[in-house]
Amino acid sequence: MIKVIVIGLSLLLASGAWSLPSAPLNRVVIDPGHGGSDNGAVYRDLKEKEITLQLARRLRQRLADRGWTAVLTRESDQFLSLSDRARLARDHQGDVLLSIHLNSSNDERAHGMEVYFENQLPPDEESAFLANRENDNYQGKSDLDWPLHPVPEAADLKGDTLSIVQDLQRSHRIYTSSVLATQLAESWQGQRRSTENTIRQAPFFVVSNVNMPSALIEVGFVTNSNEAQKIRSEHYQNSVVDGIVKALAQFKEKMDKRRSQSLK
Ligand SMILES: [Zn+2]
Repeated sequence: MIKVIVIGLSLLLASGAWSLPSAPLNRVVIDPGHGGSDNGAVYRDLKEKEITLQLARRLRQRLADRGWTAVLTRESDQFLSLSDRARLARDHQGDVLLSIHLNSSNDERAHGMEVYFENQLPPDEESAFLANRENDNYQGKSDLDWPLHPVPEAADLKGDTLSIVQDLQRSHRIYTSSVLATQLAESWQGQRRSTENTIRQAPFFVVSNVNMPSALIEVGFVTNSNEAQKIRSEHYQNSVVDGIVKALAQFKEKMDKRRSQSLK
């Protein structure tokens, strides 16, 4: 019986009909990292929480100009727990979640963007460290025990069937998030990393606890003086945002194409 259910659900998922958005992808939830008592990375007078909000606002405006709906998890210098952010993303019924952060390092030479999506494989040590860093910056560690709610389509299912559906949905979400992360890296118009490893998987709480494709972007290093100076500038922030918009447009095109094929 279970085997039949698994095969049936696999076919449904493979067809794309189960977990792709029922409407064309057009609603983006933007999560500016940190806020309020949580400054995020701080270097001299630069605070991560301020830059992430500036970038999020610019991104929302650019997306609105193109007819997308974009919603921010926070509008001001306000503290939000990780579970608040994940819940808001789901409540806003986002088709995509982008969490925006800035990096820091003991090595002042470290620079460039990195993009993370939900991990599926055992994380390497550096990713685990980074995930702890972003996750630990928040108060209330009990948030980490907060369970992932079943997505609405799976709400009526129970027991084994529910867990099978959730596994399949997770696999599908990780796949679509990897496509999103790849587009973000390819369309990036800001400073690039000097190493190859721009795209990584890590257990960041927010991107791992939503039911939509999601990615966490570390826009650049506040601890690199050249990059910190650029990140403050309107010109550089616009370049970063333009790259993200381009990536989202390409991601939308791919997902809409796949969706229309599944409906044929
Ligand atoms: Zn951060």
